[in-house]
Amino acid sequence: MPVAVKKVASILEELAPVSAALPGDSVGLQLGNPDAEVAKILVALDPDQAAVEEAISIGAALLVTHHPFFYHKLSSINESFPEGALVAKAIRNKLNIYSAHTNYDIVPQGVTFQLAKTLRLPVENAEVLEVIDHDRLLKLVFFVPVGHEDDVREAISAAGAGHIGSYSHCTFQIRGTGTFMPGEKTDPYIGERGQLEKVDELRLETVIPVSRRSEIIEKLTNAHPYEEVAYDLYPLDLESKAYGLGLVLETDEPFSMQQLLQLCRDRLDLNILRHWPAGKNLFKRIALCGGSGGSLIGHAFQKKADILISGDFRYHDLKQAEGLGLALIDAGHDATERPGVVYLRQYLEKKLTADGLEAEVCLQTSVGAKWI
Ligand SMILES: [Zn+2]
Repeated sequence: MPVAVKKVASILEELAPVSAALPGDSVGLQLGNPDAEVAKILVALDPDQAAVEEAISIGAALLVTHHPFFYHKLSSINESFPEGALVAKAIRNKLNIYSAHTNYDIVPQGVTFQLAKTLRLPVENAEVLEVIDHDRLLKLVFFVPVGHEDDVREAISAAGAGHIGSYSHCTFQIRGTGTFMPGEKTDPYIGERGQLEKVDELRLETVIPVSRRSEIIEKLTNAHPYEEVAYDLYPLDLESKAYGLGLVLETDEPFSMQQLLQLCRDRLDLNILRHWPAGKNLFKRIALCGGSGGSLIGHAFQKKADILISGDFRYHDLKQAEGLGLALIDAGHDATERPGVVYLRQYLEKKLTADGLEAEVCLQTSVGAKWI
């Protein structure tokens, strides 16, 4: 069954909510019709000529990219110029384009998290370099017939409910009597239509991050035996995980510069790497940022990082880092963001399959601009 563009968008926004984007950024559906149905999706870093042509040639009605299609405002769509011709080509071919940009940069499972995972660095306890915001917590309260509580608790915990510090499955439960009367059009799990039912139930309460809300409620309703599940959500004045740019993590054993360079070459498939050791030989506290990391040099220094791995460093970034004793590796803007693009494809495929939706999700094979 093909899937609507808006359904794909809602799946992507569970991972990277549009509201998390930095001010002024252009994210979400860039071009197209939210109700259009797609059977094939192409995922790419850039919505450039190569990606648009590949999407059209393989019959993908939706192109999902990290960089926005409309990053700069257009004052005209003039086909004499490449930019206008590209927009016109996408429209004529009914190509829908969706972009997850800075919202995907700053969420906990975002671009830099995927970069660290691809480099096989220990990212689980990483700290955010520049905190932009925090996820919020909600109190979830629900009622479940006695005997079903463990199945429901397991389902919601796996989706991110009840995590406090390093503890999972954190709930509180109390026993009581639930009442309900099934209506004429119901198919009740317990009881008869039109008769008041009294059931031995448990009230469970736990905390959930706002960003996981829709997935946790879906797991709750799927694992719960009732046709209609009674639950409440209360806002809390509590913060959950930090959102932001870049991460810093600590390795068990220190790396030499040569080891780090080799790791980047092997795992990011790179030919060109620039590095500045800043007088250091060993690197244990490693900061990373997918894309352009020059603005994070001061944050990396404040978080006591030995080195910052990112892309797009300018000469003055190098001089700033040198003065702070912070080593740099410039692995390139695209190479440090590509792990995030690869993950977007995997994520979409997994979520669509879990929802019983049959859209094929492909990764761009044609290459746009690249240093060789
Ligand atoms: Zn970028």
